Amino acid sequence: MDYVVGIDIGTTSTKAVLYDLNGQIMIESHCGYALHQPTVDVAEQEVEEIYQAVLNTLSECIKGSGIAAQHIRTVAFSAAMHSVLLLDDQMQPLTKVITWADNRAHQYAEEWRHSEKGLAIYRRTGTPIHPMSPFMKLLWIKNEHPDWLANTAMIVGIKEYVLYRLFGKDYVIDESIASATGMYNLNTRDWDEEVLSILGISVHQLPQIVSTTYQLKGLKPEVAQEIGVLPEMPVVIGASDGVLSNLGVDALHDEMALTIGTSAAVRQVVTEPVTDPKGRLFCYVLDDEHWVSGGPVNNGGIVFQWVRDQLFTPEKHTAEQLHMNSYELLTEIASHIPAGSDGLIFLPFLGGERAPLWDANARGTFFGLTRKHTRDHLLRAALEGIVYNLYTVLLAMSELTAIPHHIKATGGFARSDVWKQLLADIFEMPVEIPTSFESSCLGAAVLGMKSLHLIQSIDEVKRMVGTTAVCKPNEDHFAVYRELMPIYIRLSRLLDGEYDAIAEYQRKYVK
Ligand code: ADP
Repeated sequence: MDYVVGIDIGTTSTKAVLYDLNGQIMIESHCGYALHQPTVDVAEQEVEEIYQAVLNTLSECIKGSGIAAQHIRTVAFSAAMHSVLLLDDQMQPLTKVITWADNRAHQYAEEWRHSEKGLAIYRRTGTPIHPMSPFMKLLWIKNEHPDWLANTAMIVGIKEYVLYRLFGKDYVIDESIASATGMYNLNTRDWDEEVLSILGISVHQLPQIVSTTYQLKGLKPEVAQEIGVLPEMPVVIGASDGVLSNLGVDALHDEMALTIGTSAAVRQVVTEPVTDPKGRLFCYVLDDEHWVSGGPVNNGGIVFQWVRDQLFTPEKHTAEQLHMNSYELLTEIASHIPAGSDGLIFLPFLGGERAPLWDANARGTFFGLTRKHTRDHLLRAALEGIVYNLYTVLLAMSELTAIPHHIKATGGFARSDVWKQLLADIFEMPVEIPTSFESSCLGAAVLGMKSLHLIQSIDEVKRMVGTTAVCKPNEDHFAVYRELMPIYIRLSRLLDGEYDAIAEYQRKYVK
């Protein structure tokens, strides 16, 4: 029997999963590391910690499986998008790994987001103008730390650096990660000349762009030995975690992939690049024929966490004492409130918002309160508000592409039947929860199999993804949400003009 490994370099941990050629999990391994956040705007990682985590998870997974080296056909990589690492001419890091969550470029993003030039660049590159984007990060570095750039021989992300350490060869970057840098042109499928000239960097400071099924060969012998594979085993470069998650849940056609963890994302595969005239959606490469369009959302499960911690502290403590899951207790409470929370609407923008508003100053709102409403109504309205917001991202997507008919949902919220039903009712679509938990690792493994011709097409993922029961929309409920949704959307527009004012007040007076 032959096997492949999918490995995902994430923001707080690296995960490796060993699969057989039917996508069955043989063994998995995780290794966590710190996300350093010394101030609110900084979010960095130590490059060496991540490199060691990659070696450790691969070694644990492959050697731990007891499978002979010649049966491991490939290791394929997934990684978080948008990271930036500067290297000197000896290939020594000049910076830590600056992650997507780092916000230090926010002033530059605000300036460029509202300019014609910024919008034109977004439309060529598919990466929204936001501090998460390496384009914005490098603009910030150029202006505020020119000395760093002066000594920079190479600009890479975490995956490119790890591969360089494994092979010791020239730097390459997969087209998917490249497409999320804000410096890659979707039309020419190469680095965007205008962006590079704005940043004052040359193509020689950037890795060579290769397809997501590209194979690297010639592993360093000591690396091969440490992880338990043959030095001649090809490594498949793979893609980014977001697009691979679509592949790993088999959302490749008219299904939408929806993730609600701490944050959330709505993503759909398209067969040609699409960008949004209003700059709200991303478009990233999956492989030579597929792109993923969608929106990243700040206010996912973290809003539920806020409700639990601030409004339901006694229940949280009770659940802890009874060794119950506090989120389960709370969703059970919410299930006793009617759909639509008796006309209470919540706009969930507690942490500013990326898609669909792209407004860091957006704030949360309860609207429609009467004396009839209870704390339990606030809870249900909050869960509904998170989903209303995700639905508006779908509405933005529907301006560009055909609306999908089916949701494949993943993330912490998927553990709750109440929340699953809410999703089906507000989106008016069946919701399916795939059992494959590490969807980005499975997506990477499938790309690896495709690259080695172990499968004919990435569509073969269908037989590898297990699914739980489908949750269908409830007619009575979605009738209610159809009435409330237009009010939510109008409110969202009306409040738009007030967010800056309240955010400014809070910055000034709230410590
Ligand atoms: P992360 O995105 O950090 O990997 P998860 O995918 O585990 O995290 O999602 C965490 C969020 O999922 C929590 O903030 C909470 O809102 C939600 N959640 C976790 N467990 C449950 C549950 N049993 N029922 C409902 N929601 C849950």
